[in-house]
Amino acid sequence: MLELKGLNFRYNNPENSFELSNINLKISPGEFVTILGPNGSGKSTLLNLISGEFRALRGEILFNNKPYFEYKRKEIAKRISFVPQKYYSVYPFSIYEIVAMGRTPYLNFLGFEKEEDIIKINEALKLVGIEHLKNYSINSVSGGEAQRAFIARAIVQDPELMLLDEPNAHLDLEHQISIFNLLKSLNQEKKLTILMVSHDINLAANYGKRMILMKQGQIYLDAENSKVLTTENIQKVFNVDAKVYTYGKNINVALFPNN
Ligand code: ADP
Ligand code: MG
Repeated sequence: MLELKGLNFRYNNPENSFELSNINLKISPGEFVTILGPNGSGKSTLLNLISGEFRALRGEILFNNKPYFEYKRKEIAKRISFVPQKYYSVYPFSIYEIVAMGRTPYLNFLGFEKEEDIIKINEALKLVGIEHLKNYSINSVSGGEAQRAFIARAIVQDPELMLLDEPNAHLDLEHQISIFNLLKSLNQEKKLTILMVSHDINLAANYGKRMILMKQGQIYLDAENSKVLTTENIQKVFNVDAKVYTYGKNINVALFPNN
C-alpha cells in the first residue's frame, strides 16, 4: 500500500542539523503499525512526509504502487487521513465544522454537504463520544475533546490509510482505551490500515502488531512487537531500564528508574 524508498529530509533551518535519513518502509493493506522513539527522533517529521505536508529531499514515496506526485491532492485526501500532533485554530470553528472538513474531498464544486455526508459526520461524532459538543467551538473544549474531533474528521474522510501522531496525548485513561478500541475495530472490520505514533509503549504493544523504533532520524528497528520489545532495545533507544512481561497475548513493559 505504502512504500518509502531511501527517503531523506532536512528542515530549511541552518541552526537545526536534524536529518531524517535513508528511510525505507513498506506498509501492507490492513496493517496496524506503531512508531515509537524518543522526543526529536523524527516521528512527526516522518508522518508529515507521508501525509504530503513536507516534501522529501531525496527518495520516493509510492502509494498503491504509484508515485505520490502523480496523485492530485484531492485523490490523496480520499485515501490518506492525518491526525496531527498539534493543531492551531485561529478561527473558532465548531466541533461539527471541524469534523465536516473531512468530507471536503468528496463534495461537489458547490461545496454542499449531501444527506450521506451529514449522516457520516454525525456517526463519527457519536463513535468518538463528542456528539453533545458538536456546536461548541474547537477553542472552548478540552485538549482530549479536540483530539477526538480530529479523529472523527479523519474517520469521515473514509481513508484507506490513517496516520495518527500521538492521538492519545491528551486523553484520559477511559478515552485512551475507547479510542484505541475504536481504531482496532476500524482496522479489523473496515480493513483500515493504521500507522500511528504513540508514546504509550503498552498501548502500542497491545493494539498494533508491528513496531518501528526511531532513533536520531533513522529507523533503528522495524519488526513485530515481541521482537522489538526487549530490555536491550528499550535501553538502547530510550535509555531506560525496562522489563518486559507477557501474560497470554498481552505484553506489559515496566519501567524502572536508573539507580
Ligand atoms: P518527534 O516527533 O520524534 O519528537 P520531530 O519529527 O518533531 O520529532 O522533530 C525532529 C527534529 O526536527 C527535532 O530536533 C525538532 O526540533 C526538529 N524540527 C521539528 N519541526 C521543525 C521545524 N518546523 N523546523 C525546524 N526544525 C524542526
Ligand atoms: Mg512528534
